[in-house]
Amino acid sequence: MTMEFMDELGLSAFICGEYYPSIVSGAKTLLGQGAQHDCTSPIDGTKTARFQLATPEQLNAQTERACAAFKIWRNTPAPVRGQFVRRIGELARQYKTQLAQVITLEAGKILPEALGEVQEWIDVCDFAVGLSRQLHGLTIASERPGHRMMEQWHPLGPVAVISAYNFPMAVWSWNAMLGLVCGDTIVWKPSEKSPLCALAIQTIVNRALDEMPDVPKDIVSVIIGGGEIGKAMSQDQRYPLVSATGSTRMGKSVGEAVGARLGRSLLELGGNNAMIISEHADLDLALRAIVFAAVGTAGQRCTSLRRVIVHHSVKQALCEKLVQAYQSLRIGDPRSEHILVGPLIDEMSYATMQAALTDAKQQGGTVLIGGERVTEKVPEGGFYVTPSIVDIAANAAIVQQETFAPILYVMSYENIEQAIDIQNDVPQGLSSAIFTENLKEAELFLSPSGSDCGLANVNIGTSGAEIGGAFGGEKETGGGRESGSDAWKNYMRRSTNTINYGGELPLAQGIVFE
Ligand code: NAD
Repeated sequence: MTMEFMDELGLSAFICGEYYPSIVSGAKTLLGQGAQHDCTSPIDGTKTARFQLATPEQLNAQTERACAAFKIWRNTPAPVRGQFVRRIGELARQYKTQLAQVITLEAGKILPEALGEVQEWIDVCDFAVGLSRQLHGLTIASERPGHRMMEQWHPLGPVAVISAYNFPMAVWSWNAMLGLVCGDTIVWKPSEKSPLCALAIQTIVNRALDEMPDVPKDIVSVIIGGGEIGKAMSQDQRYPLVSATGSTRMGKSVGEAVGARLGRSLLELGGNNAMIISEHADLDLALRAIVFAAVGTAGQRCTSLRRVIVHHSVKQALCEKLVQAYQSLRIGDPRSEHILVGPLIDEMSYATMQAALTDAKQQGGTVLIGGERVTEKVPEGGFYVTPSIVDIAANAAIVQQETFAPILYVMSYENIEQAIDIQNDVPQGLSSAIFTENLKEAELFLSPSGSDCGLANVNIGTSGAEIGGAFGGEKETGGGRESGSDAWKNYMRRSTNTINYGGELPLAQGIVFE
């Protein structure tokens, strides 16, 4: 399948016979030597690309090249590294529409959300460029006369990035743009469901590399492979940091492998996000936030709203408003204007959604709306569904798990402490929100006895975070933090330095050794 935006990005030029390459950096473009892998678009099931996946031997060779590039890049001044990232950001701006079209093609996101994802990459570039002049350490008072103490932050090494299909560009950019200004090199294994997005990114990076001949060509590369390539990266001690985004099942495997060699892992895993709707909430505001958070990206965001915990006195009113809003959702081809809900990623995702709805009903849940496959006025071959709302008890087993599809569980509570308990009583801890006009409730929710999630919001939804904050969550969400705030420290090593500028050699803690 060749499309104009693929030509404009230079993606079509990659095709060799029937195959796209599986290893690409600024220096090399190589076909994979592993199993054949066909990709399809969730829009209509048509074939988008054919690969031969990379083999562990090919990964090994690319890792070597990334190690060699690191030796040069680490000594490039950080503000100069920032100039390279700035150029990438400029090119991403220039090709924003085409890049978004690749996201829509491969991940099925509606175009406005896909454009938002590319914007996130552009925003991270801006942030990283500023950061390239602010990678600062502390100076610390020494207890010894004639001494000075300070911290420096140095580049860490090649970073392995493993990512999920649902944010096929933004997650890479959080890691790569920060990692690059920090002086690291990046080897990226994207989801095998969204490899064209990764190659599209590499076309942008390669353009920047062509314009800047002093930048080592292997500082950024893509390797298209399956879970076994991710596993091999996790086990490889040449990667001091493995940043992995995806399911909790995958994160446990990566965490174990990296932990066994005492490396660092940065894990961004599944969520089970909740919103508390108090009797003091502005229900109309809450309604808008719920609908975007629950059905945006067809419920396939890590921060998608899965649970509404609503005060019993307003539950019925809220459910009626929600059902009405869900009835007017426009479901269909994500490339068409005015569509709000695109397809699920594949048939497996549809089957998982159906199984969860069956379980929910068996556990006493009542489906208020949705859950059916849509076949009219949508492209044939895609898996389109009506987003579902299920009224269910807070202690039903099904609400403990993340089902990566648009199912919203609604449950009621009696008092705010109970609502917070219900919210926190799941294995995951990514995103949370409260809707209330009551200051005491809002502050309690944000306090040490409030939400236990990495993200806790007041009067806004659970999804759509800004890049300036640190992003990530607790418990089975993995504990990692990426993007803004001081997340850059993950990509550097800290060196504590004590300098003696006096003529004596006093020992710390007053020890006399003579
Ligand atoms: P997934 O876990 O199936 O795959 C993610 C990546 O891990 C893919 O690249 C895959 O090839 C790789 N992988 C699989 N097994 C591996 C192993 N044993 N070792 C190393 N790598 C392995 O996830 P998915 O279906 O692509 O994405 C959906 C999941 O990702 C959801 O659970 C969602 O919540 C989560 N997610 C989390 C965040 C976050 O920031 N917390 C962001 C996006 C998605």
